[in-house]
Amino acid sequence: MQIRFLGGASKIGSLGMVLMDGDRKMLFDYGLTPTDPPEYPLPIPSNVSAAFLTHAHLDHLGMAPVIPRGGTEVYATETTKRVSEIMLEDALKVARLEGYPSQYSPKDLRRLLTRMHGMGAHSTFKVNGAEIELTPAGHIPGATMYLYRGSRDVLFTGDVQAIPSHLVGPSRVLPCDVLVMESTYAGKEHPDRAETERDLLRAVEDVLEAGGRVVIPAFAMGRSQEILMILAGHGFDIWVDGMARAVNDSYLKFQQGLRDPRAFRAALDEVNIVEGMRDRYHAAHESDVVVTPSGMLEGGPALYYLGSVARDPKSAVFLTGYQVEGSNGRSLVETGTLTVGGVKLRPSCQVRKFDFSSHAGHSELVAMAREAKPRKIVLMHGDHRNVLKEALEREFEVLTPETSETIEV
Ligand SMILES: [Zn+2]
Repeated sequence: MQIRFLGGASKIGSLGMVLMDGDRKMLFDYGLTPTDPPEYPLPIPSNVSAAFLTHAHLDHLGMAPVIPRGGTEVYATETTKRVSEIMLEDALKVARLEGYPSQYSPKDLRRLLTRMHGMGAHSTFKVNGAEIELTPAGHIPGATMYLYRGSRDVLFTGDVQAIPSHLVGPSRVLPCDVLVMESTYAGKEHPDRAETERDLLRAVEDVLEAGGRVVIPAFAMGRSQEILMILAGHGFDIWVDGMARAVNDSYLKFQQGLRDPRAFRAALDEVNIVEGMRDRYHAAHESDVVVTPSGMLEGGPALYYLGSVARDPKSAVFLTGYQVEGSNGRSLVETGTLTVGGVKLRPSCQVRKFDFSSHAGHSELVAMAREAKPRKIVLMHGDHRNVLKEALEREFEVLTPETSETIEV
């Protein structure tokens, strides 16, 4: 059995992996890197019989609309199928706005949505004579790992989080021969989640007591909903804007992958939705807290809201997710400046970053490997795979292939 990465082996973004087992060829994830300009994975080889998408983040399924061109069947969870439509339509719009040629057409996207099988969170099914089992990956609602049972059992994790959040439950690892594991947080640990939540609540209260307002840039899928669940029930006047609104509706409607659908609904009942310019103005000037994309201040309504607090030292911007190198969010945290429309700004509001990562930390990844008891581990999707490799090598055979390299497993 062989595997070959089409992208994302040694870094975060553009993930795609082909598994070759006899005359069977299966594709796992097919994403892009939404940088400026975007980066894409290698083309899909011919005769891929089936493709499996782990979740609806762009680095895992941003290129999925090209998969069915060759007649390949595509599998995902029902939730991923529903929210991928929102994600991919938005990506088409962004490509148009930024002037990059999109790698797929609206017709490709429609074909994908009609060809994608929406599966149950724990389902087992047969594809080309091989058995496929889904098992929860934590991370975001609908995220799944795939266990491929062929000449060997291979578990492909996608992005994984072992610790439950308000929004999603923990991952559930299955025993396997080969564990293909993400390594985003190799060598890094997260602070205690409960403590981070308390810190955020206290920080919001402090700003409001001083007479300021809080803007929370957050990724539309997963992070926004988690932050809303943390903030709800504390008497704040909370508004939500951007693509998170459509994602909220999808999560509510399908509920698959939510840890506690009732608690999610209760939280959303307390939140105000920005529905037009009048709401947006009101939210920017009268609210306590606005939760809005983009999570890295690269665009979206977040920039408008930032403008409304930028000159007020009593107000604050609280970042809640990973800030990629070169992004406005990263620059704001590290240098206190950001660049909007070619103009460098130095806001005088407070800026703080909170770690609400939806990826497993280093020791959780090690624990996951021990639970899966594989003969071999393949590390992917990380800039610092070697740190994790060193930790795992005492107990396992660990492989760190590069993109385009074919390895025997
Ligand atoms: Zn992800």
